[in-house]
Amino acid sequence: MVNARDLERYKNLLVAKRAELQARGVSLPPAGAATGDVMDVASADTEADLQVRFRETDRLLLKEIDAALARIRAGTFGVCEVCKKPIAKARLEAVPWAGLCRDCGELEQA
Ligand SMILES: [Zn+2]
Repeated sequence: MVNARDLERYKNLLVAKRAELQARGVSLPPAGAATGDVMDVASADTEADLQVRFRETDRLLLKEIDAALARIRAGTFGVCEVCKKPIAKARLEAVPWAGLCRDCGELEQA
């Protein structure tokens, strides 16, 4: 399990990353407001399309960070959401918002 000191550190990392994204203007759209973006993508030229896609990646990241912070509050941080095994510390160091262990993460990508 993740000890309290590490947990505090991961939390700080997550909060810092979250602030960084928000400083770049990334925010989660209100639920049900996604249709406007689909229209934008359809009419966008390639460069703008790329911008939208970058923003989409950042938004997904923001979502994962929020979920990780929620797991810290819930006391389930560092536990794989699929197999419920502890996530390796090295993985959490690299990706503090990881919600899956390496094995399950690889399965998801396959
Ligand atoms: Zn797993």
